[in-house]
Amino acid sequence: MQKILLVLSMLMLSVAANTYWHDGVYDAAKAKTRKAKRRDSSEHLYIHVVPHTHDDVGWLKTVDQYYSGSDQADAHAEVNLVLTTVIPELLKNPARKFTYVEMKFFTMWYNYQTDELKEQVKGLIKEGRFEFVNGGWSMHDEASPHYEDMINNMMHGHDFLKKEFDVVPRIGWHIDPFGHSNANPRLFADMGFEAWLFARIDYQDKDNREANKAMNFLWRPFEKHFGDAKQIFTAVMRDHYCWINGFWYDERFDGDDPVVVREDLDTFNAPGKVDLIVDYINEMAADYIGNQMLMPFGCDFTFANAAMNFESMDNLITYFNKHNTANMTLLYSTPGEYIDALHAQNLTWPTKYDDMFPYADNPQDYWTGYFASR
Ligand SMILES: [Zn+2]
Repeated sequence: MQKILLVLSMLMLSVAANTYWHDGVYDAAKAKTRKAKRRDSSEHLYIHVVPHTHDDVGWLKTVDQYYSGSDQADAHAEVNLVLTTVIPELLKNPARKFTYVEMKFFTMWYNYQTDELKEQVKGLIKEGRFEFVNGGWSMHDEASPHYEDMINNMMHGHDFLKKEFDVVPRIGWHIDPFGHSNANPRLFADMGFEAWLFARIDYQDKDNREANKAMNFLWRPFEKHFGDAKQIFTAVMRDHYCWINGFWYDERFDGDDPVVVREDLDTFNAPGKVDLIVDYINEMAADYIGNQMLMPFGCDFTFANAAMNFESMDNLITYFNKHNTANMTLLYSTPGEYIDALHAQNLTWPTKYDDMFPYADNPQDYWTGYFASR
């Protein structure tokens, strides 16, 4: 049963991760058109590998079940282990970075650590290797809650971060809300976020944005009232917020193989993994302005065995940078570093004014019922 659930949840994720399913049938022609696109310049590209975990504060299990790893048959997830294994793995190698989001889970873990470990966490934060984005108590929905609840949710998390670490998150990270309201970018601008990133966007809007290189843009909500006073830079992920195909290597899934760089092993596979990334980035660069590309590495409740993830990523990054001939560099990064690198290019961005509701990821799949179906 657990296996069936795992396979089902992986299928759901992979279906959600592309926009080429029409009525449950894969639209090969559309996928092919997209794949045929290639970048239009030979400019050197920087690929920001962003290791992260998306930890819903309650979904298929309760918050405490998710935290402690109970009831694995309902969902194979243990957030306690994510933080317990990520921190020592970061300490092992100064190149490694990690991004964390949900303050409810973070405080559940942090408040029970030793003073020594807390100091180590503080050190990683200062070095910019453990980055908090969003930093709300949870990642709030944008459709159903009242704006006051959104503010309270964010204040609660930010209050802890300011008091404990003197950290004020710079970047919003709304990778899983099912569509985006005008209120949210307005609130995020007021909260002092410099930018925000998300993954879920209407499939037709996304097609248009890819065709016009408008995946990253300036959002000016309620422009009639505020002009450009409430604008916020917005970055849309190309294929959902999880790994691209070929890199699903995590304790949680029977997914892809790790990146193996030792040529004496039968399992040596690094050249094929390099080709997958080169191919993908050549397509992706056709849809984006500039030479900085974001590549999320992680997914829902991933990194519970962070040694697995980081060893494979270390291998990938070292091998890729030594052997690719495509004028590309892979780097460990964070959302903040990606946004800074984008802005350092002094590019001009398209502008958006209205909201992003309702959200449909396919022609028959409108994610609207949850507004009032409790
Ligand atoms: Zn979620």
